[in-house]
Amino acid sequence: MSDTLLSRLADVVGDKNVLVEAGTMSGYLTEERGLYTGTALAIVRPASTEEVSRVVTICAQEKVPVVPQGGNTGLVGGGIPDATGRAVVISLTRMTAVREIDVDTGTMTVDAGVTLQDAQHHAAEHDRLFPLSLASEGSCTVGGNIATNAGGTAVVAYGNMRDLVLGLEVVLADGRVWNGLRKLKKDNTGYDLKQLFIGAEGTLGIVTGAVLKLVPANRSVETAFIGLSSPEKALALFRRARATAGSGLIACELMPRIGLDFVLAHGSGVRDPLGGPHPWYVLLELASPAEQSLRETMEGILEGAIEAEEVDDAVLSENLDQRGVFWKLRHLLSEVQKHEGGSIKHDVSVPIASMPAFVMEGIAVAESVVPDCRPVPFGHMGDGNIHFNISQPVGADKQAYLARWDEMNAAVHAVVARYGGSISAEHGIGRLKRDLLAQIKEPVEMDMMRRVKAALDPDGLFNPGVVV
Ligand SMILES: Cc1cc2nc3c(=O)[nH]c(=O)nc-3n(C[C@H](O)[C@H](O)[C@H](O)COP(=O)(O)OP(=O)(O)OC[C@H]3O[C@@H](n4cnc5c(N)ncnc54)[C@H](O)[C@@H]3O)c2cc1C
Repeated sequence: MSDTLLSRLADVVGDKNVLVEAGTMSGYLTEERGLYTGTALAIVRPASTEEVSRVVTICAQEKVPVVPQGGNTGLVGGGIPDATGRAVVISLTRMTAVREIDVDTGTMTVDAGVTLQDAQHHAAEHDRLFPLSLASEGSCTVGGNIATNAGGTAVVAYGNMRDLVLGLEVVLADGRVWNGLRKLKKDNTGYDLKQLFIGAEGTLGIVTGAVLKLVPANRSVETAFIGLSSPEKALALFRRARATAGSGLIACELMPRIGLDFVLAHGSGVRDPLGGPHPWYVLLELASPAEQSLRETMEGILEGAIEAEEVDDAVLSENLDQRGVFWKLRHLLSEVQKHEGGSIKHDVSVPIASMPAFVMEGIAVAESVVPDCRPVPFGHMGDGNIHFNISQPVGADKQAYLARWDEMNAAVHAVVARYGGSISAEHGIGRLKRDLLAQIKEPVEMDMMRRVKAALDPDGLFNPGVVV
């Protein structure tokens, strides 16, 4: 069966775009952190929506599972096939056309395989901003961003990917193409079907194209790196900045000292921007499409915060290079944890007002599960989204520490639940949290999700084992 299948797939995409050798497939079969490695019949690389549709039709006829994949930067194993070797991975990375930029309407229509960074660059060439921003933007794709409803560092001003999508083109499980590439801000014509596919992690359809919202490009930007004593003070600063700058507040990122220590120890070309150490840091950024100086606004926020004893020290970036250095400190936070041994991770959110209490309780709970563990809670404070990562105790056995993963997750997630939070703020469910999902959702919610899945993918061939 598989020889026939492979030759039928090769008829659609060409021999060289059906990868079957272990060496050429390996990069598609393991994810960034090495937590998931799968096997597959083949990696298929279509170049157009029509090719995706024909590939899916063949797989549906042969009852072969398909796993859509973009840049393979996902962090929950959703783009990696299981170990059965039955699936075909459909990589969208050859679909890189920018189909249209409509400056008047403020939209960009792109293929799903365009990287986020390329989408940003194309928008910038037309003096527009596509505001989604992630540390993985050089590799992740628009299709992957849609499938995971990606968040990132600018959600506080512009929203998640869901808020930035106006229309979608999707290949359904039976191979039909749904052309929903509308550019309308207002369209109340029944169910908003695109929302089903946003955040569905490839379990309901394959996104092949999208209409994205553009906003005016920012002409002025002001960035500050701020030292303070607690998450409580960080929240007070956030409130102050939001009240003063309104929608001009575009990032508010929280970092603990231990995170900065890790970056300074293991990152290259970095230094502490402040004179002495502080228990916590906030990276605060204001921006505006107007040609205006935001320096006075930022200085006003910081002066008020220093007077109210919310902030202990701060430095403003003098130029774009220095801004880049501040952001580098923030972006390196995930990566450098590798050098400190095992890290047990949580991507959680709580209502913003509960963020300080959650962080302090989370730290206490983690330390009660593994004494001397090193919590490194950081992230998108302006969205209540904390990457609650916990590094192993110094000198501990990495595998023995990681064996406590589920126990630690359960303890931290119990605190999240008490604050009415979410166990997956932006990375999704994938394979990593699939079993947890059924534990935290009400039965009625799980039932609705399963019914949607059964309606759109009756044979369960799209990304089996992911989400539901
Ligand atoms: C260093 C780093 C920083 C990160 N920072 C953030 C962050 O700040 N915020 C955040 O939200 N995420 C972040 N991520 C996670 C990741 O980059 C995002 O989830 C991203 O949106 C995934 O895009 P991708 O193209 O790599 O998708 P993949 O990893 O290839 O796939 C992810 C999921 O989407 C599905 N999928 C992919 N393409 C399609 C498609 N065309 N149609 C249907 N389903 C599809 C896959 O099956 C899989 O379930 C980060 C990752 C790294 C490595």
